[in-house]
Amino acid sequence: MKTRHSNRSAGLRSGALEGTAGSAFAAASGSASGFPLFRGGGGHGKARVFDQALSAILWSLGLLSLAAGTTFAEGTLYTLATNGPTSNRINLVFLAEGYTAGQTAQFSANARAVLQQLTTTPPFNEYSNYFNAFAIFVASAEAGSDHPARGIFRDTYFNSTYDSYGTARLVTIPPNDWDGNYANGYGKVDTLLQALLPDYDQALLVVNDPEYGGSGGTVLVTSTHPSSPEIGVHEFGHSFADLGDEYSTAFPGYPDTEEPNTTQQTNRAQIKWNVWILPSTPVPTPDVASYYAVDGLFEGAHYHPTGWFRPKHNCKMRALDIPFCEICGEAFVLSIYGRIEPIESVSPATNSLTSLTNSDATTLSLGLPHPSTHSLGVQWFVNGVLQPNATNAAFIVSGWNLPQPTNAIRADVRDATALVRTDPQQLLQASRTWSVQSAIVRPALSISPVGGQISVSWPALAAGFQLESTTNLDPINSWTGWGVISNQTSANFLPSAAPRYFRLRHP
Ligand SMILES: [Zn+2]
Repeated sequence: MKTRHSNRSAGLRSGALEGTAGSAFAAASGSASGFPLFRGGGGHGKARVFDQALSAILWSLGLLSLAAGTTFAEGTLYTLATNGPTSNRINLVFLAEGYTAGQTAQFSANARAVLQQLTTTPPFNEYSNYFNAFAIFVASAEAGSDHPARGIFRDTYFNSTYDSYGTARLVTIPPNDWDGNYANGYGKVDTLLQALLPDYDQALLVVNDPEYGGSGGTVLVTSTHPSSPEIGVHEFGHSFADLGDEYSTAFPGYPDTEEPNTTQQTNRAQIKWNVWILPSTPVPTPDVASYYAVDGLFEGAHYHPTGWFRPKHNCKMRALDIPFCEICGEAFVLSIYGRIEPIESVSPATNSLTSLTNSDATTLSLGLPHPSTHSLGVQWFVNGVLQPNATNAAFIVSGWNLPQPTNAIRADVRDATALVRTDPQQLLQASRTWSVQSAIVRPALSISPVGGQISVSWPALAAGFQLESTTNLDPINSWTGWGVISNQTSANFLPSAAPRYFRLRHP
């Protein structure tokens, strides 16, 4: 099911889909194998994250609204899972629709079920740390949702309804064909989000109604039907990655616009996912068992049984309880990196000037997000020269290591995941460059009598030099080393009859 909320004030694009999705979804059996724990921060932290769910009331929109002198509305923001700063995470926010004031726990459970399903479904399981999740509870006067075709109407906060655009299972909020007033639906969503979580990336409205239904669009809509977590993941494909439906059931009036996973192109070289198609796979691809497991060009997609093609025999964008195909998975990862910087932070700031003298050293470091089972690749360069084995998030440079008075130290970061084969915008990589000045200063030796001894001393910047001595300069005898200087600044010697000469040399 898919809606396009192309213009919030103009309303939904009409001509709904659904009977379509309904049949495809109904054909799939329920995947009631239980939801694994949300993969939050990893390890035991996961359970803790969820124990804290709905425990922290951050602030009340009511207070904000009163202070601003605008319409009073009651909304409370809760944290479901925190994996990083909202500025560099995909912030999901669940909104309560059709829950009465006493149903916060039920809303929490319903929202978390969708969240768990999403973050344990490939490819999101690999990137679960890239998501934060929040929930906004607003109480509705009555529980449930409208079913106009059956004469059922409920007084709910966002005025959601089934039977949108003539399709029983298409659940939407205004503006829609039952209520054209933006202020009754999307307007309330926008007001709440602007007040409580302006950094949000994707809003998911959970409708407290057990009947099968939902929709994609600017706001993803699911119900509390047992399949709703799976429906939510499917709709997330529309809302988050602009994926198309890969089923072919007719949807009259829907625009014939290609999505990342649908095409009318049959010329192999021009198929947008051709790098995923083995040379031995025919194009178009016969939809027979021997090709079920591979990517190809399968006829039937985007609400058309012919003339439109999908990448694989089956995919979650075609039927529930099926994995996403590789092409949809790639689109998701690209969408994730369209919102998340591979380099999250740097230290020190790249616009600060670092100056190093002699053996002075500093550590340049990167803050990187962490996929579940692999790390982002790092490579450091000094003045464009690759530094062997410098592949960690931190890189130590000292004045001695830098060949020029001013040096460019660059870190290249890339997520080399096999989930992505084509990244034309280079979303999965990033670089940062520091300017580091290096000054080599000759330390001066001084000699003075101390008690009955001779004290040879030097400044701190002599660290790393070796103190050496000889008894004759003409001809020069071999120099005797006294060890590499670390943090001491002097050494004492007994006087001798013969002259003795000292020098500092960098090994
Ligand atoms: Zn797909």
